[in-house]
Order: sequence, then structure tokens, then C-alpha cells
Amino acid sequence: MDVTEFEVWWKIPFRHSAGIHATRFFEGLKEKKILGVKCEKCGRVLVPPRAFCERCHAETGEWVEVKDEGIVETMTVTYMKFTGLPDPPYAVGVVKLDGADTGMLCFLGGVDLTDWRRVHEAFKPGTRVKAVWREEREGKITDIEYFKPLD
Ligand SMILES: [Zn+2]
Repeated sequence: MDVTEFEVWWKIPFRHSAGIHATRFFEGLKEKKILGVKCEKCGRVLVPPRAFCERCHAETGEWVEVKDEGIVETMTVTYMKFTGLPDPPYAVGVVKLDGADTGMLCFLGGVDLTDWRRVHEAFKPGTRVKAVWREEREGKITDIEYFKPLD
């Protein structure tokens, strides 16, 4: 027996707490500072900061400021529209910032994004990139407009 299907759209507004670590991270972004925390057991610097090290399950401790430049670990470029994300094309990548031991998901830009082959060439793993900060920052991850390749 075929069952009835309905196509529906759910729009559910909600608020959630960012928590202590993300709040301090976002406050840092307003001042163009990228903050991480150090795991007291393994010594890794985790960016973005979090309450526990996912490797050791140990509480994190000391706050550390890392550089706003680092290397691309992986990336992709998108040519489809997704709700809540920018109009395509846009590129995202995982960037390991200087002073950090973990990668952070970021937008990548500053290059022509229309040809995915060129985008992948511009941001191949190991490429050095630097943050392009927004003039008006409001304590959101989008305070960093994107990371652009360094020469
Ligand atoms: Zn650890």
C-alpha cells in the first residue's frame, strides 16, 4: 500500500546558549583576536576553544591567542544555494592557525571562485592563508570574512 506523503517546511526559531568557551571566543573576534584553549593533559591548543579535549577527555585550561594566519588542511567550493549560507559560489576550508593544533572551519576567498579547478589550486593543502577581518565586528564567526592566500 502506498502511504500518503506531505511536503512541509518547518521554521522553528530558537535561541541557544553558546556556552562559556564559545562566548569568550566570539568576544575575542570583536578585537581581532582568535583564542584557543590548551589541554592540560596533552598540551594541544584547541581552536575553536572547548571545555574538553576530544582526544584525552581532559578539561581544558589556559587560554591562548593564536595567529590569524595558518595553513589550509582541506577545502571545498560550493556552487549550490543552501539555506542560511551565502550565495554561491563560496569556498570553505579547515585552516590550522599558527599556534593551534586543531583546524577551524572557515570561509576561503580573495580569489575567483567561478572555476573550481583554480580554487582547488589556490587553496591546496599546505597553502598559507591569512584572515580578512570585517571592519564592523559583532562577535560572530563571520567577523572573519574569509581567509585569503598569502603570496
Ligand atoms: Zn588532550
